[in-house]
Parts: sequence; structure tokens; C-alpha cells
Amino acid sequence: MKRPSIAIVGAGPSGLCLGALLHQRGIPFTIYELRDRLSPAALSAAPSGMLDLHEASGLAAIRSCGLWHRFLPLTADCGQGTIVMDRDGTVQYRDDGGGGDANRPEIARNELVGLLLSATPAESVAWGHKLRGAAPTADGRVQLDFGDRGTREHDFVVGADGAWSRVRGLVTDVGPRYGGISYATLHIAGATDRRPALADMVGDGSCFILGGGNGLVSHRGARGAISVHVSAASDDEHALQDRTRDLDPEQWRRVLLGDAALFGSWSPAVHELISAGCDEEAARAGSSGPPPMKPLYMLPVGHEWPARPGVALVGDAAHLMMPWAGEGVNLALRDSLDLAEAIAKAWDEYSSSPESQSFPDVLLLHVAGFDRAMFARARIAAQETWTNSKLLFSQDGARAMADLMASFGAPE
Ligand SMILES: Cc1cc2nc3c(=O)[nH]c(=O)nc-3n(C[C@H](O)[C@H](O)[C@H](O)COP(=O)(O)OP(=O)(O)OC[C@H]3O[C@@H](n4cnc5c(N)ncnc54)[C@H](O)[C@@H]3O)c2cc1C
Repeated sequence: MKRPSIAIVGAGPSGLCLGALLHQRGIPFTIYELRDRLSPAALSAAPSGMLDLHEASGLAAIRSCGLWHRFLPLTADCGQGTIVMDRDGTVQYRDDGGGGDANRPEIARNELVGLLLSATPAESVAWGHKLRGAAPTADGRVQLDFGDRGTREHDFVVGADGAWSRVRGLVTDVGPRYGGISYATLHIAGATDRRPALADMVGDGSCFILGGGNGLVSHRGARGAISVHVSAASDDEHALQDRTRDLDPEQWRRVLLGDAALFGSWSPAVHELISAGCDEEAARAGSSGPPPMKPLYMLPVGHEWPARPGVALVGDAAHLMMPWAGEGVNLALRDSLDLAEAIAKAWDEYSSSPESQSFPDVLLLHVAGFDRAMFARARIAAQETWTNSKLLFSQDGARAMADLMASFGAPE
């Protein structure tokens, strides 16, 4: 029997999780990733946003990968508590993360990627391979075009290549659209010691400072760091990006902190948080200045497509959504857990009678079932995060978010 060949495009959380789970089952695959390989030490040292993992999705996947005991020590940097403040700095809501039914440990994105990578055989990952395009071949396979790196053909291709997936075009013509918010992420290293007042203000976990259609969402990170997403609503997709591109720190501050429609009238402490983050970003080795605001994109809520032989999508490639429900990476990991199961079933069925059907045909039925469950999950989360987006970035976003948090039953 000729063994079917499986490709995964993208070594983010979804692609690596799928790789780790297939490896456990002895199913061979190749992951193609556009970035060059980073050493575990470099990955761990790089500034990174935080992701909270949920029981039935992200944590279930980590357990299935056999990584639970190595995962837990990586979650000590950011607490599970939440603070909600208005733009004057008045706290509208605070909890210590002990409420509701939620155990939602926070892990740095880079640490999560490093952990999943450690469970994937090194020889299975082809670094520095940027997919340019994917097309079906006449004999029922899929051809991947890596430009200067040449082309490869596979029996089954998984698009785990995020927001701007090149694999997605094999199943749908629909692409991401602007979600009405732009953001820049700022990292303040060692804030506990170097910026104790700011560290005290944002607390040990997550902090939302909201109002006037704008907001700051911060998390604590490794070695006392604060990472903060500075976000603002704008109907014009490129306006904020154009206004904040290629600026020095003084100019960047003038745009963000000098405009009453942005953060001009916010409390001095919030100005200090943004200002400190701006300076740190500009001073970082290799930096060309403070980062421009970038538009956030989403696929239409509830977008679906009919299953096609030889291809499946997972994670953001399948259901890119706004980040205000903390579900993106959780859905991505759940997708990989379920798709690994579907592939394993098809692998066994095909291996027992390889002459009766092709591998992509055997897999098609299982992928259709996988898709149905994924679409249902993603629709609920995408609707929730879209609703949250409107709520958090409303005029009185802090009050709206405080009410939402209180409705979850966490102690006020
Ligand atoms: C500001 C912000 C905050 C967020 N906060 C949260 C949060 O708190 N909680 C949460 O659950 N989610 C959050 N998310 C969403 C979360 O980051 C994503 O849902 C998650 O990373 C999706 O994982 P993925 O593996 O599907 O895609 P990605 O993480 O995007 O990984 C895709 C991988 O594919 C590679 N790739 C891309 N194109 C190609 C190509 N052409 N060829 C080869 N490789 C390619 C990329 O380099 C990358 O390694 C946030 C997102 C943003 C933007």
C-alpha cells in the first residue's frame, strides 16, 4: 500500500497541535511554515501576548497531546483575575478569577507554540516555506506552490495558515473583512520592578480600560511584563494605520494621546501606560519605532462551505473572528483535536482495504462530519465575540463590560 501523504500548512497553535496528535497515532505528515525556525530559548524570550485556555477545547487538546504537566508550570505569569476600568481610572468591576465554573489558565502564545513544537518531530516541519497558492491536480491530489522552494503534491492538505490562509481558496471564495477596530500591541518588560504603579493599576491578570469607543486590554506576562492591546473603533479600515505608520515616539504619542476622539481625555495613568509601552517598543532591538495600529479582520459569522476531497481548514483559516471572547485559540485547538480523530479513522479504514477507495474519498465523509461540528462551534463563538466587540467599544464600554462580567456569576 502506498502511504497517503498529508500536509499541514502553518506551524501556529492549530497546525502544531494537529501535528502532535497525528504523531501520537503514528500517522506521518509534513508541516510547512513560512517563518524560519526559532530556538526554544529565542521563542521563550520574545515578547508575546497571553491566551487563556478553556476546559472543553484548549485544555482538552493539551491533555490529549500528553502535555498537561509541562503546560501547567508555563501558566504562572498571568493570573486569571479581571479588572474593568473606565477611562477616568475608576474600577467598575474586579474579580480574582475564582468565580463561575471557569478554570482558564493563561499561557504566552510563544510558550504554547514552543510546547506544541516539542511534541512534534523536528523532521516533520519544513521551515521557511511560504505557501503562494494551492490547486487540485487532475489525479485528485493537491499541489502546493512554494515559489522559489518549488512545488509539492499531497493527498490531503490542512489549512492551518491563519487569517490570510492560502489554502482557504480551495473551499471558498470568501475572505476576511474589516471588523471595525484597529489595534497596536505594546510590551513593557519587567513592569513589576520597573513600573510598579502601572503594574499595580493593571493587576496580576487581565485589565480592560474602556470608553468612548476605544479601549486598552492588558495581560501580565513572563518576568513581570505587561502586554497591552491599544484598540480604537474606526469606520475607515486604514485611517488609524495611516495616521500611526512610520512615526517616532513623540509623533505617535501626539496622535494617540493628543486626540480627544482617541485617548486624549483619558486619565494620566492611562497616558503613562500607553506612553511607557510606546517607548519600550521604540527602544526594542531591531525596532523601527512604535508599531502602527493594525485593522482587525473577521470572516462572516456563520460562514460555511461544502466539504471537498483532499482539504480541510482549522483555526483562524476556517473561522477568523474578533478576539473579544477569548475563543480563537481554543477553537483552533479543538478543531485540531477533532480533525486528528477524523484523519485517524480514515487512515484505519483506508489501510484495511486500500484498493476499494482513495484516501481522500475515505476521508471526505469524516471531514464533512468534522466540518459540521466545527461550523456549529464557530458560529456561536463568532456571534459572541461580535456582540462583545459592539459592547466593549460602545460609548460606555466599561459599564457594559462590568455588567457582562457580573452576569457570568463571578464575585464582584
Ligand atoms: C490582538 C489579538 C488578540 C488575541 N487574543 C486572543 C485571546 O485572548 N484568546 C484567544 O483564544 N485568541 C486570541 N486571539 C486569536 C488567536 O491568536 C488565534 O485565534 C490563534 O492564533 C489561531 O491559531 P491558528 O494556528 O489557527 O493561526 P495562527 O496563530 O495565525 O498561525 C498560523 C501559522 O501559519 C503560518 N502561515 C501563515 N501564512 C502562511 C503561508 N502562506 N505559508 C506557510 N505558513 C503560513 C503563520 O506564520 C503561523 O505560524 C487574538 C488575536 C489577536 C489578533
